[in-house]
Amino acid sequence: MPGTTTSVLRTVDHVVRPVTAWSVLDHEPLDPLPVEAVDPAVLVERLRVDPAAVEVLHGGAAGAAEALRGRPELLDEVRRVHAAALLPGETPLVITDVTTEPVLSWTPATLVVHYRNPHEEPVVLASVTVTWAGEPFVVEQEVRADAREGTLELRLDEEHTLPVGPAGLDVTLWRADGARAAVRHTVLVLPSNPLAMALGPAGARVTGSWSLRGDHRPESDTFVTECEITITNGDPRPVAMGRSMSWEFWDGPVGGGTRVEAGTLTWSAPITVPALGAWRGSVHFSSPRGSGVFGRYDRKEDLALAVSATAVDGRVLRAEITARTLLAYGVNIIKVGTFGAQEHADLYAAVDRMREVFEARDITLRGVDRRLITAAQAGGYTTVGSEDEYRDMLEAWSCANDYVDVFVVQDFAWAGYNGYAGDIPGPATKGGRKDGVAVEKTGYTDGSGTARLDVETLALLVGHEVGHYLGLAHQETTDNLMRSSSGVRGAAVDYEQYRLMFPHGYVVHL
Ligand SMILES: [Zn+2]
Repeated sequence: MPGTTTSVLRTVDHVVRPVTAWSVLDHEPLDPLPVEAVDPAVLVERLRVDPAAVEVLHGGAAGAAEALRGRPELLDEVRRVHAAALLPGETPLVITDVTTEPVLSWTPATLVVHYRNPHEEPVVLASVTVTWAGEPFVVEQEVRADAREGTLELRLDEEHTLPVGPAGLDVTLWRADGARAAVRHTVLVLPSNPLAMALGPAGARVTGSWSLRGDHRPESDTFVTECEITITNGDPRPVAMGRSMSWEFWDGPVGGGTRVEAGTLTWSAPITVPALGAWRGSVHFSSPRGSGVFGRYDRKEDLALAVSATAVDGRVLRAEITARTLLAYGVNIIKVGTFGAQEHADLYAAVDRMREVFEARDITLRGVDRRLITAAQAGGYTTVGSEDEYRDMLEAWSCANDYVDVFVVQDFAWAGYNGYAGDIPGPATKGGRKDGVAVEKTGYTDGSGTARLDVETLALLVGHEVGHYLGLAHQETTDNLMRSSSGVRGAAVDYEQYRLMFPHGYVVHL
């Protein structure tokens, strides 16, 4: 039916990993054996290496070094064998595995660290760095483990509990002689209440704001919104869910704005959330021109999606998430005067870095046009000495497209400035004395005598001036891109600033 958002459903039918080993990137359990105790043919077969790479290690560290001088091409393969087998006489500390019971939200947990320590010095310290949706934290624990192999318990106590969602656990053991071993382990923290639903972005264009993306498909003139639904169960019994879920798109926050569209999802098969586990499905909402959702996206407005589901026993789950298009603007990078090859490379590295700064706020670059005004053509404009001279340059040149003109000059000889924007916001048309920004190239000579540009400073400087062009005034909060002084400027762009930039005529949705 035209003019109405419809939904297409897909359950995740590949094997969902265990909640206590959630990421495919986790270390596999590892237990290297002494090389002389392993059948060389097994290593050759398993690691797909030249038999000589295994043979080399039988000579111990000194023998291997000697043999590699004769056959340096074997180095990579020898390294792979060494990761799986110990040299004669080696006594490394090894974490062979990290195991845990399913971790429940806001509940202490115990990590069991399995190790092997074929050395007389004891293991003295265990630590875990926990990465999750908030600030990472570290828990350290003194231990005294003289045993050559065994297990250690590392406790996440009441002060170190976690909310529902994935959490990375980087576990490290230290031995008294300074040797250490580290592995990464990931868990999915389950709800202790004990059933919860979460919505997340799926597919491409997932950014730091963890919002859903409205993606325009020109061939059907439709916005597609893909959303992943995860139901987690912290109970030791499976939970049966009803096959229907209801969805609502809201203009602004759920309950605080206008309900734009609503409907029902009906899954093709009954949903069972496994005991101490998770169920995942994804849904594509397809919104043709004329639908309420299409109109909001087309006007670059934020939406909120709310989904609710009911368990067969009557419990109701509800979750919501922001949905927005990925916005984009283009830049014409106009080199004014002479740039060396390394300076050219540094300039475009800075533009890439600037793209990342804006993408953290769901605004990307739709294009980068590369332009050059030679030193001969530029005359005095290679150095900008005053506001008048800067505006004369804007008047003398512009690129006839709907990208922001960014002039990168050799130097600003204009007290107190290293960049300048024509207006806040700059015009969405070309011509006149306001239609661009200018920055100095921030050049320096590196230790080997090569002329370079300071990529990070330049990225934030161009981003700052473009920020002015798109409507941002100075803002002196910590790490903000719009701090007036480039010495203290950071890469942060906040939500209010996003809201100020999106109406600019040069900012379009992808
Ligand atoms: Zn400024």
